[in-house]
Order: sequence, then structure tokens, then C-alpha cells
Amino acid sequence: AKEHGRNNYQFFSEDMNATLTRKVQLESGLRSALANEEFLLHYQPQVDSASGEVTGMETLIRWRTADGTLVSPAEFIPLAEETRLILPIGEWVLTTACRQAKRWHDEGHRHLKLAVNLSPLQFLDASLMEIVRGALEKTAFPASSLELEITEGVAVYDAELAIARMEALRDLGIGIAIDDFGTGYSSMMYLKRFPVTNLKIAQPFVQDMETSPADKALVATMVSMAHSMGMSVIAEGVETLGQLESLQALGCDEIQGYLFSRPLPAEQFTSMLKNGLPH
Ligand code: C2E
Ligand code: CA
Ligand code: CA
Repeated sequence: AKEHGRNNYQFFSEDMNATLTRKVQLESGLRSALANEEFLLHYQPQVDSASGEVTGMETLIRWRTADGTLVSPAEFIPLAEETRLILPIGEWVLTTACRQAKRWHDEGHRHLKLAVNLSPLQFLDASLMEIVRGALEKTAFPASSLELEITEGVAVYDAELAIARMEALRDLGIGIAIDDFGTGYSSMMYLKRFPVTNLKIAQPFVQDMETSPADKALVATMVSMAHSMGMSVIAEGVETLGQLESLQALGCDEIQGYLFSRPLPAEQFTSMLKNGLPH
């Protein structure tokens, strides 16, 4: 039994070693990725659940390394936060997305809202307001068409600061969405103090709502709570017609998910705007 245990230990430590090596490699790659223009942005349409019209898009970063492999943001964003590289990366995302969205506005799609993810570190950083104002000025994109997505987690570090930041952004006319709603801590407690404009219902609730009456009840509750607080609701990760119909019946305002479209490169998003969503 002892020998078995030792073997297990060995496997475990080799595993950890591989993870560590991967992390060190990614980190050094991440440091040069911005300069080498290895990041690109994809845009996923957000759709009005009643009319089926495209109302806006969420910006999602992609990293294609020098050897052509795609690294998932789920893997490199946490590392970018740890190393604080998320600050220059996040600034690039914001400016690049605003510039692209401004093009779509100028091509006649002025109603489109642009959603950009902000990591907690970015959101709480002292230079946030300066960076946001700078991006809007540089690109001439209207603040009222920009929506920033943050997670409930931002309030854990410093609730007062988080609320002050949200108010400063709101003062500029920028919308604030709570991302992955329902998966963090203290949802209810903070929500009434957050000047939030949109609630994004996290994918796990959406995925299980057809099989689990409890999840469906939770989604129904989130929708009516958000509406009674004057917020708009968007469901993410919508993949099936059944989910769409349930969400429509519950009065969910907007839908985002593979059912309508995967996140698209800018050129493909442009042709989608011209030709409409595939059905
Ligand atoms: P998120 O903000 O919750 O983004 C939604 C994720 O769900 C995206 O994954 C999107 O591609 C995926 N998704 C959309 N529709 C569906 C669907 O119908 N089914 C399924 N299974 N998935 C769907 P992605 O692009 O891999 O991004 C992962 C996470 O990385 C994001 O989660 C966000 O937290 C982070 N991220 C992405 N881009 C940025 C960025 O520019 N800045 C920051 N700070 N974080 C980012
Ligand atoms: Ca998001
Ligand atoms: Ca999300």
C-alpha cells in the first residue's frame, strides 16, 4: 500500500510540474503578446428576445500565439490578472473594441451597444476612469453606447470603492452589467446598492432551466427582481430553442448564445449585420 501511495504521489507531482511549466511558458508568452499583436477580438451578438434584432455585442479576447495555437481566455486571463498584465491588455481591448464599434455605428448601425469585460483588477485600478475616458475620446465612440461587464466579486475587496467607481462610470453615461449573476457571493446584499443597468444571468442557470424546476424558478426570480429594480436582463449561454422560449415566456429582455451565433471576428460580424443572423 505504501508503494502504491508513493506512485500516486509521483504522478501527482509530475502533474503539478507540467502545470507549472505550462504556466511559466504562458506567462513569458503573455509578456510579449501585446507587442507582437497576438491578441484579437471576437464579438458575440446580443439579441432582443422579442424581436430577434441584434442589439449589441460582447467583446471576447482571443490569443493566437506565434506558433498559431489558440489559448483560451479562461486560461490566460487569470494569469494576466496575477501578473497585472491585464491592465495594458484590458486597455488595448477597450480601445480596439470602441474603434471597431464606432465603425459599425458609422456604417449605419448606431443603435448597437458595445459590451466589454473588465477584470476586478482593472475595475479597481486607480487609472480606470482616465483609461475609459481616453478610449472614448480617441475613438469618438459615445459613452452611452458602452456597457462594462463586471462580476459581483469586485465588491468583496472594497465595496465602497466599487460603488464609487460604478457611480463615476454611470455619470459618464456608461452602462454597467453584472456578469455571471448568481454565481458569486452576496448577490442580493450588494445589488440594491449597485447602480447597475443590466443583469447577465450566468450560463449554468440557463442550461439547467429545462430539466430543473428549481433553476427555472431562480431564473424567473432573477428576471422579476431585476425588472423591479429597473434593470434589463440578458441570458447568456443560450443554446436551444427550448431555452429561448422559456426565457421569452419569463420576460427576459435579451439573449446571447450559440443558438444565435458564436463569437465572430469583426469581418464576419460585419457581414452578419448586413445579411442578418442565420436561421
Ligand atoms: P464570460 O464573460 O462569461 O463570457 C462568456 C463565455 O461564454 C465566452 O467564452 C463565450 O464564448 C462563451 N459562450 C457564449 N455563448 C455560449 C453558449 O451558447 N454556450 C457555451 N457553452 N458557451 C458560450 P470565452 O470567449 O472563452 O471567454 C471566457 C471568459 O474569459 C469570459 O467569460 C471572461 O470572463 C473572460 N474574458 C474574455 N474576454 C475578456 C476580456 O477582454 N477581458 C477580460 N477581463 N476577460 C475576458
Ligand atoms: Ca462577460
Ligand atoms: Ca458571463
